Amino acid sequence: EVPVLCIDGPTASGKGTLAVAVAYQLGYHYLDSGTLYRVTGLAMRRNGLEADAAHEMQIAELARTLPLRFSEGKVLLSGEDVSDAIRTEAAGMDASRVSALPAVRKALLALQKSFRRLPGLVADGRDMGTVVFPDATLKVYLTASAAQRAERRHKQLISKGISTTLDGLRADLEARDLRDSSRSVAPLKPAPDARLLDNSLLSVEQSVEQVLAWWQE
Ligand code: C5P
Repeated sequence: EVPVLCIDGPTASGKGTLAVAVAYQLGYHYLDSGTLYRVTGLAMRRNGLEADAAHEMQIAELARTLPLRFSEGKVLLSGEDVSDAIRTEAAGMDASRVSALPAVRKALLALQKSFRRLPGLVADGRDMGTVVFPDATLKVYLTASAAQRAERRHKQLISKGISTTLDGLRADLEARDLRDSSRSVAPLKPAPDARLLDNSLLSVEQSVEQVLAWWQE
């Protein structure tokens, strides 16, 4: 079997940064599953749909047939660069809404599994270890305090020239976490066999080191 290393955890816990660094160190492929939900949310908006049960099947169909490509670090939807459009807080909220629809989660399953290719995969998201790759070699559940996560997201957005307030961000991410962990399908929670890593007080390098040490056990 192709080895898989899963990194799951709440919004802005640093999963992406950690997963990219670990994938680079191991020379593995990388799956950012949140991107797929974000693009699905964007496709929903552009089709004038709302993320409710009445439109679930239509949104799932959009998810199943996403005209999506990844090129030179950019995310292309029907050839259009949507890399920035999917990174806004509003797009994150839409992603969280569509991701609570069971048919949408099911529709994205095959696409996510298709990223599992030699020499190996590092996958980041909410349910990589619990649903998508239950037989993963290593599962890490990454957490950090809400204050830390809001602070990091704030810096990230500022560096992109997007202005927000710290309080607004924290409220947003707590609302998103609440929805993600209370939904009926694939709620955000650590897999029973996941290693817990709280990176509130760790540098990126220290977190990478810890995960690689577990990997080599
Ligand atoms: O990780 P990111 O913030 O890009 O994810 C956006 C949203 O997509 C999350 O808030 C979550 O609701 C959803 N998601 C999910 N399952 C995943 C990845 C993301 O439900 N594996």
